[in-house]
Parts: sequence; C-alpha cells; structure tokens
Amino acid sequence: MEIILAKTAGFCFGVNRAVKLTYELLDKGCKVATLGPLIHNPQVVADLEAKGALTCPDVDAVPDGYEVVIRSHGVPRSVYEKIGTRALAFHDATCPFVSKIHKIAEEAGKNGALLLVAGDASHPEVQGIVGHTSGEVRVFANLDELEAMREILAQQKSIYVVAQTTFRVQSWESCKAFLKKWCTNAKIFDTICNATWARQQEAEDLSQKCDHMIVIGGHHSSNTQKLLQVAARHTDAVTIETADELDREWLRGARVVGVTAGASTPSSIIEEVLNCMSEEIRDDMSFAEMLEASEAKPLFAGKIVKAKVISVSPTECVVGIDGSKHTGIVKLNEMTHDPNAKMEDLVKVDDELDLVVVKTNDQEGVDTLSRVRFEAQKGMKDVSEAAENGTVMEGDVMEANKGGVVVNVKGVRVFVPRSQATMRRDEDYTKLVGQHVRLVITECAGRKIVGSINKVTAEENKAKREEFWQNVEVGKHYTGVVKSLTSYGAFVDIGGVDGLCHISELSWSNLKHPSEVVNVGDTIDVYVKSYDPENQKVSLGYKKEEDNPWEKLKNEYPIGSEFTAPVVSITKFGAFVRILPGVDGLVHISEISNERVNKVSDVLKVGDEVRVKLINVDFDRKRISLSMKACEGEVEAEGSDAE
Ligand code: SF4
Repeated sequence: MEIILAKTAGFCFGVNRAVKLTYELLDKGCKVATLGPLIHNPQVVADLEAKGALTCPDVDAVPDGYEVVIRSHGVPRSVYEKIGTRALAFHDATCPFVSKIHKIAEEAGKNGALLLVAGDASHPEVQGIVGHTSGEVRVFANLDELEAMREILAQQKSIYVVAQTTFRVQSWESCKAFLKKWCTNAKIFDTICNATWARQQEAEDLSQKCDHMIVIGGHHSSNTQKLLQVAARHTDAVTIETADELDREWLRGARVVGVTAGASTPSSIIEEVLNCMSEEIRDDMSFAEMLEASEAKPLFAGKIVKAKVISVSPTECVVGIDGSKHTGIVKLNEMTHDPNAKMEDLVKVDDELDLVVVKTNDQEGVDTLSRVRFEAQKGMKDVSEAAENGTVMEGDVMEANKGGVVVNVKGVRVFVPRSQATMRRDEDYTKLVGQHVRLVITECAGRKIVGSINKVTAEENKAKREEFWQNVEVGKHYTGVVKSLTSYGAFVDIGGVDGLCHISELSWSNLKHPSEVVNVGDTIDVYVKSYDPENQKVSLGYKKEEDNPWEKLKNEYPIGSEFTAPVVSITKFGAFVRILPGVDGLVHISEISNERVNKVSDVLKVGDEVRVKLINVDFDRKRISLSMKACEGEVEAEGSDAE
C-alpha cells in the first residue's frame, strides 16, 4: 500500500503568519486576546490558551491591558473602530489575500456598486468583507443562489464580484460563467487565494489516484470541508481532526491512500497521523521520507524564480511563485538596499519579478525570496568582467564605515577603501554616502570585491586638465568649487585644475579673511585673470565689475551731492566716513564745522551718522573729500529762506 501526502498539506501562509505572531507575543510576555479562535484547529487554539491567550467573542469582552490579535480571516471596519475607541493595542494578522478583498469592497462602496460575495454568509471572513463596503452587498453560497438573484442583478448599474478566499474553485468557475453571460457590467475579481486553489486542485488530482483520501483538519474549518467535498467526488474521503480519529480498519485493503490537510492544520498533527498510518501499514517510510516522496521541495535556496506580486505592505510584499503552488515573501531589505525606500514605491500588485529563493519552507508553503540577491547575481557577472578588463562601473554609495565606503554596483556590494574614495586625504569621505559614483573594480575574489573611485577621478581630472589648458583664455568664466582657503585667498577647482583667487579679488571691500565671502565646498562663478601654462598656475577673479563701488560712486554721487553716512575711523587730521562698502571719504578737521575744532574726537566718534557734502573725488588716487560744514551753511541758509 502507498501513502501519498499532498505537498500543499498544512498551514497556509496566512494561518502560519497569524499563529507565529501570536506565539511570539506570548513568548514576549504580552497579554494576548484573539477575536474568536485564532484558527480552525482546536488543538492549536488549546495550546495557545494554555500559554495564556484569551479567546474573546468580541472587542467588548477583551479585558483592559490585553493586546488584540486580529486573525487571518480579517474583521469588519467597525471592529477596528471599536478597538480604537477602547484604545487597545492590536496586531493585524489579516491575511494579505483577505486585505486585498477588503480594498475591493471599499472601492465598490465608493463607486456606488453592488458588492456580490461568493461565500458562506456565516463565515467570519465573509462577515469581515461585508463590513468593508459602504454600499449594498449580497452574499451567495453557490450557483443556485446566484441565479436566484438574476432579476436584482439586471437592475444594477455596477456590480463588483469577489469570492471568499477558500471558496470552491469549481463552483466559482460556474458562477463566473453565469455572471459573464448575464451581467456584462459585472467586475469580477478572482480572489480565491492561490494556497486554496492549489490545495483544492491537488486534492482533486490526488483523489482520482487513490482508493481513500484522508483530509486532516478542524471539523469547523471551511477549507477542510471544501477539500473533503472535492475529494469525495472521486473517492472515499473522510476528515479527521487528529490521529486519534483515524480508523485503521478503514485503511485495510487499500492500495493507495491520499493525505491532505486544511490550511489550519499544523505539521505536528499531519506528522502524527502519518506516523500512525505508517506504524499500522508500512514501517519503512518516515514522515520526512513521505514529505520527500510528495515532492514537497520543488524549490531550493539559490534558485531563480519568476513571481507575481499578490499584495504589498510597507515592510514586505507577498508573491505567488510561477510554476509552483508556493507563496513567497520579499522583505523590504531584500527588495532594495535603499534604507529610505518604501515598498509601495518599488512594486505594485500584479508586477512580475525575478527573484532568488533564500529559504524554502515547504510545510507551510511559504518561501523567503530576494530581489536584491537576484540583482547581485546578475550584477556579479558584470562586475567580475569589469574587474578583468578595467571597465568603469557606476554605483550608489550606500554606507560609510571606518575603513571606507560601500558602493552598490548592479546589486553587488563593492568596498572602496578610504584611501581610494577621495582624492585628498583631508576630504570627508563619508559625504559620498547617497552619491552616484564612477569606479573601477580592483579586486574580485569570491566575496571580496574592492573598487577605487580615485582611479576614475584621477583619469577624469587628467582629461579635464588637458582640455582646460587647450582652451583657457583670459576673461573666460568657469563654474568652480572652493577646495580650500588660506589667509591670502581661495583655491577653486575649475574642472581638474585648481586656480587661486587672491583675497583682493574676492571682494571690493577690504577683507580680513576669504571666509568672509566664500567657504570650502561653495560653487562659485570665477573668471581667468591670468595663467601660466608652464608652471600650471591660474589666477582667478571673483568680484564683478558691475559691483565696483567706485563705478557706483561715479554714477550715483555727483560732486556737491549731500548724504548721511557713518563715521568709521578718526584720525588727527579728520574723520573717515563710509560712503559705500569699500569706499570711504575724508572729512578734514577743517571741514567738520564752521566753528573752530581743536581735536576731531571732541566733536565726532566712530559710529556717528553725519551729514556730508561730496566736494572732490580723485579717482586715480582713490581719494574722496567730504565736508560737514558745507551742509551746516546750507541748513542755515535754508533756515533763513524759510524765515
Ligand atoms: S487560506 Fe489563503 S487567504 Fe486564507 S489565510 Fe490562508 S493564505 Fe490567507
């Protein structure tokens, strides 16, 4: 006699997620309450309760201080509101396949469409779906019930149709055929989850080869009952909850027995049943061997697969793997190296991805997959070729550490030592993080992949220098970056060549230090004042002619004009007054007042605002004569006129 174990038997992805989450919370010492039994498996629920979990019928029954776990079936919107009103902490283990249906239900409500749900109206999952639409909703359990609604459907402008995730595939297909014929305005969403589909399909196939089928699962589990219905169409089929219910007599004389299990059946119970069967019937095959025989490992770590995105959350996306009945998870850090990326920006439902299997978990049908590793595998080939032939590669600097920076080159982590990251030792190499850089691969041995940004920068600078010396002209403008400052000026990189902008060329005012005008890292516009190709020296100008204050003085301050300006310094022979930044005029002691002035400081001090008249400008010698007393005379004269 042969025992064939269905490879889809056991916990589905959604159930596994909910059970794992609850055990983790209990292990952390949290007080946990589930809304209804967490899964349709009394043994698992009893174990959770033994560890402290409370099974509450509704939110009102949850004691204060307990954290609510929403089970994979999901709940109506009103339950979230109630949890919010009671300010209870909660963990949402709603299966992503179910969440997807909630979104469709919401959309139906918003668009004023009738929502049709294929499923069992008393099932919590269906109640949850119904509770997510704000519009009209009807539930039908089979084709007969759907056909009975024909007249109602004919009056609808818009209809959205979804199925309970565990709905019977065959029944759904006939309902869809009916809807396509009679309701051309119906939008049909295939929402039976692929775990369910795969399980039912396998039960269908297996039951045709077997004399008996055993379906292991909770007697109240909807998907277990559907598996039984599917199998019973082809052979003798029974459900058992545990190994204790196995009637060994029933197996006697059977040549082939098929075993499958509902989505809420833990592998421990399947193992128990199989061991019990093997004890009775055959003692030459262990549980592990049966798993192997059931081809439960079609995937292996490192395999490249194609997969379709089923759902997207901020931290992970769930995918269906092509050619396999498995579901996979891609965590955000396995989707991208960018720590600021959001999963929603990277993928959307129905996207097709190439991925690498990181870990298989056949018992539960959930695999861990990675896009990052796929990119790395693909990129590795290019990187090793580039190492051999010296091709310049491009990449994004992901992180900096004590030794240097890590660059993502086509998904491959390339380490660039500090000395190879920047041209100058004193440059802050950590500033490269986030930048797109060009580099060469200097070493590629196994996992040790080393690169150099410097080598590329040096080559590029050399080419730029040659180009510069070929085309440089006095007066030519360049956009440059201030590389360093000294007391006598600023060195500016104008494209592979550093030119000196003398302090006197930075501003029309007298500067004490270049930092009054520019700082290291500033991008500035400069022009060539002179150059010496032999010694490779370039003098640059930064201040602009249109800002020349002497020109401004010439245009805006005619001889005889009067204005108020501050005293900026006092000398024995007079006071200097600032007319414009960089342009001071002298009020000679004899020009301060009509009265006799013995000492300038008796009358004026630095900071005084004084009224002056421009009496003479010597532009060649840059000397300006001002008079205060000339203004006094006029004031008096103006005063006499007024009288
Ligand atoms: S049967 Fe499908 S929809 Fe339901 S919990 Fe499992 S994976 Fe999710």
